[in-house]
Amino acid sequence: MAAQSLEQIVSLCKRRGFIFPGSEIYGGFQGTYDYGPLGVELKNNLRRLWWKHNVYERDDMEGVETAILMSRWVWKYSGHEAEFSDPMVDCKTCKGRFREDKMADAVCLKHSKLHPGECEGEFTEPRPFNMMFKTAVGPVPDPESFAYLRPETAQGMFVNFKNVLDSTNRKLPFGIAQQGKGFRNEITPRNFIFRVRELDMMEIEYFVMPGEDETAHDEWITDHLNWWIDEVGLSRDRLKLYEHPKEKLSHYSKRTVDILYEFPTLGFDELEGFANRTDFDLGSHSRDQDKLGLTAKVMKNDHSTERLTYFDQPNNRHIVPYVIEPAAGVDRGCLAALCEAYDEEVLENGETRIVLRFKPALAPIKVAVLPLARNKPEIVAAAKAIKNMLQASGDLRAVYDDSASIGRLYRRQDEVGTPFCVTVDYDTLGQSRDGGTELKDTVTIRDRDSMKQERIPISELLAYVKARI
Ligand code: ATP
Repeated sequence: MAAQSLEQIVSLCKRRGFIFPGSEIYGGFQGTYDYGPLGVELKNNLRRLWWKHNVYERDDMEGVETAILMSRWVWKYSGHEAEFSDPMVDCKTCKGRFREDKMADAVCLKHSKLHPGECEGEFTEPRPFNMMFKTAVGPVPDPESFAYLRPETAQGMFVNFKNVLDSTNRKLPFGIAQQGKGFRNEITPRNFIFRVRELDMMEIEYFVMPGEDETAHDEWITDHLNWWIDEVGLSRDRLKLYEHPKEKLSHYSKRTVDILYEFPTLGFDELEGFANRTDFDLGSHSRDQDKLGLTAKVMKNDHSTERLTYFDQPNNRHIVPYVIEPAAGVDRGCLAALCEAYDEEVLENGETRIVLRFKPALAPIKVAVLPLARNKPEIVAAAKAIKNMLQASGDLRAVYDDSASIGRLYRRQDEVGTPFCVTVDYDTLGQSRDGGTELKDTVTIRDRDSMKQERIPISELLAYVKARI
């Protein structure tokens, strides 16, 4: 069914420990969120799936993890100092500050039910507001000793292009992948984790021969669209592609296409962007630019010590590769997965259960082991032993829980998306009330979606679960 409103997701996330407002006990800190016990598992699972698909399962990719703090020159020559800004307007009536192109996402400070522009507010002309955060560097107070917190992870990959190329002996085409934090001083952070000031990103810079860029661009879009559907479980109907108009492209882009997801309350909005960055970034960070035959217009670079080129052996020449960049937000990915998975199901007895129908690989907890009689030490001991066995031999999160009746425990696990619940009872121990011993060393396993239970030998439990993850 999927969530009908963002409120349903915000409330579930807080209630069950997925996501909490940042610095909450001090009244919050706008644009920041903390991932709780289940949120961190969900986030890690999403990152793991992405890494597996984009790094391990391909032969043309390498991973890196580069520093958040970088030389100021990086951001000058990347164009971010001059260009990484959003158009900001001030309302002279309510004194609010808004991003001009996202007024529909904001609310008027005087009329909380109206968007700016729907009220009587009078606005200033838009002016660019640079979104990079600055932080002081070193112990001596000095206005020149500052660094920017990176607004994207991409530049860490560009400045290491030569290092990766030389240390891996790669041939074009090949790519570099990175996951990590980015920081953006958003004018109006809003809509839960959709627009935050500290975000998690999953980015790829894929280097190709000039001329092969357009085909590679299309291939990445198709590949990742399928990934969101097949591996994250988003439905095709709630995804669409958006082609950026030429006049609105970022300073580095020749063509940009976004994958949009239909979030409840917000409607279709960006989940991942795919930019053809041409030779802009490698060219911008290179010395001797006039000798490189760049197609992109770049700022003259007086500080770089390197030419970020590739030796094209068959043609005996140095070239600057073109770059295709798929860039996705982990937070928006988690939000989309939560919205998609959310379901309220009316049961035969008239009760409603909330269930998160995550793909098993994404589910924060894979198996919950529940004793049917929590006051019987031998059943509790058997259940704990089974939990430990699953935990030790499978790379998965298993939990033991005996804090409520079995019905409540099932509901709780449904609500956080646990695909399997294992119950341990007298039959497991071969002590069933009718004296039979044929069920000894077996457990029941309950499927989250169908709620059907089957009895299987403990020795098959791990293989059963793994096969379904
Ligand atoms: P938007 O137009 O929504 O501001 P953008 O085009 O600036 O986004 P990119 O620079 O392409 O975004 O960033 C890559 C991805 O990072 C986006 O597709 C999105 O998933 C995520 N992202 C960007 N900004 C934010 C943010 N403030 N909060 C959460 N995720 C973000």
